Amino acid sequence: MERTLSIIKPDAVKRGLIGEVVKRLEQNQLNIVAMKMIHMTKDQAKGFYAVHQERPFFESLTDFMISGPAVVMVLEGDNVIARYRELMGATNYEEAAEGTIRREFATDIEKNVVHGSDASETAAFEISYFFNSFEIVN
Ligand code: GDP
Repeated sequence: MERTLSIIKPDAVKRGLIGEVVKRLEQNQLNIVAMKMIHMTKDQAKGFYAVHQERPFFESLTDFMISGPAVVMVLEGDNVIARYRELMGATNYEEAAEGTIRREFATDIEKNVVHGSDASETAAFEISYFFNSFEIVN
């Protein structure tokens, strides 16, 4: 059993896509074991994306992530990190496979609807960034 962090990013929340994303998670047996709506501060967004702090898009990305509420979730299941990355599609929606969330709904390389952890170490860091153990159901 593996866990991963999912975020429905502010672009998707604004566009009324929470239900669409959640439906796809449920249809693909990516079990939601924690879920809440948050509105990140700039410092929280910078801490979350600290690995990207040297990238030219860091300012823009962190401004985008604080531009409105987001939905953070913990997903659980066998091989859930890779399975959710596959469902999301490539970072750049123009390169994402047909039928993926980003291919269908993203409008921009930055405003790409969803986030998913990319490895087990990052998943552990990212889950604990937003949730304590009491907020995750067994
Ligand atoms: P992910 O794991 O697929 O989300 O991709 P990364 O970890 O590489 O990037 C994190 C997030 O930064 C992406 O989901 C995008 O929102 C944003 N991003 C990535 N590359 C670019 C870029 O070239 N330009 C801009 N403006 N944003 C980017």
